[in-house]
Amino acid sequence: QSRLSDRVKSIKESPTIAISTKAKQMKAEGLNVIGFGAGEPDFDTPDHIKYAAIQGLVSGNTKYTPADGMVELKDAIIHKFQRDNNLKFSRANITVNVGAKHTLFNIYMALLNPGDEIIIAAPYWVSYPDMALICGAKPVIVETSEENNFCMTPDELEKAITPKTKAVVINSPSNPTGSGYSPEALKALADVIVKHDLICISDEIYEKLIYDDFKSMSIASIGDEIAKRTVIVNGLSKEWAMTGWRIGYAAANETLIKAIGNIQSQSTTNPTSFAQDGAIAALMGPQELIQPLVSAFDERRKYIVDRFNSIPGISCLRPQGAFYCFPNISGLFGKQTKEGKTISNSSDLAEYLIGEALVAVVPGIAFGAEGYMRLSYALGMSSIVEGLDRIEKAVNDLK
Ligand code: PLP
Repeated sequence: QSRLSDRVKSIKESPTIAISTKAKQMKAEGLNVIGFGAGEPDFDTPDHIKYAAIQGLVSGNTKYTPADGMVELKDAIIHKFQRDNNLKFSRANITVNVGAKHTLFNIYMALLNPGDEIIIAAPYWVSYPDMALICGAKPVIVETSEENNFCMTPDELEKAITPKTKAVVINSPSNPTGSGYSPEALKALADVIVKHDLICISDEIYEKLIYDDFKSMSIASIGDEIAKRTVIVNGLSKEWAMTGWRIGYAAANETLIKAIGNIQSQSTTNPTSFAQDGAIAALMGPQELIQPLVSAFDERRKYIVDRFNSIPGISCLRPQGAFYCFPNISGLFGKQTKEGKTISNSSDLAEYLIGEALVAVVPGIAFGAEGYMRLSYALGMSSIVEGLDRIEKAVNDLK
């Protein structure tokens, strides 16, 4: 332990991965656990994507590719940005990485010096702050409120800025809350970012998983000034159920993209060659294939939110995107289990639910928000119904 670097000692295992691993382990031991922890679709990757990867393998795409991605994939990504976001890029603006998590890691490595500050709105995706710590940078957490739909306001952003601030992370729709920023809200944030000449890291990985009349918009499409300062992060994992393929990508100015390429050329080298073939098929193929997945998530979302809002002590906003809900559980604090243990925080509740009801959820504190818990609804409807029945019973058993 004492020989490990300070860098690695400053971080912890991703709590969401730890919880889904624990749920999987309990299942393997024969326990009937319902896991609401994992952030991955329960659907299979569409066949045309799998066949494209098989075709790539068969035709010999089994060697190193350019470190930052095949030109054919870069062209497909350029096409995607033009089609979906009305943004124009050239190959020098695009990098392909080993999942969007790796994209973000490379961006942080390329941008953050020790002592730099990076602004992150809470509730946040678990890796945003820890990746900053790895770089020796300081994550500056901006607490958002449920009243503002967990969105950071321009005032809150402005107050967090110091001379050391280098970048701001925007994640819309968000993991863990499912909240999305409206075009007006993005414009107001963009004004502050441009005024202070900050870098905007815009994580748009859930842009296609949206519900009701919410429309995703890239902050980079607001205007040239914010576009110049934005690095867009996206990936194939979520909308195409390709979590295991590990393909993510970014679009930004040439200097940053080249720096990321250099880091990658000294670390992972290229993302897996034939996974890139699959990614091309996903980006260039029929986009309407995402629809059934979005409709299924939508049905589950409505069910799960309605169920939570009918349980005394719990309330839940209706998420606009992604596949998570983030119920407020603070009304249960102070209650006691049958064994006389008091539920004082989100970790107590998560522990109680896994022990009493065999239901795995992630405590809000893992996302920097005490008083909440996160449930992914990327699991089958029958499991969701059973899981909610169990949660309701366990919560009603608290005194
Ligand atoms: N960004 C957000 C907000 C996420 O929720 C995730 C995955 O959970 C990622 C990025 C990384 O996705 P991947 O590395 O699978 O592309």
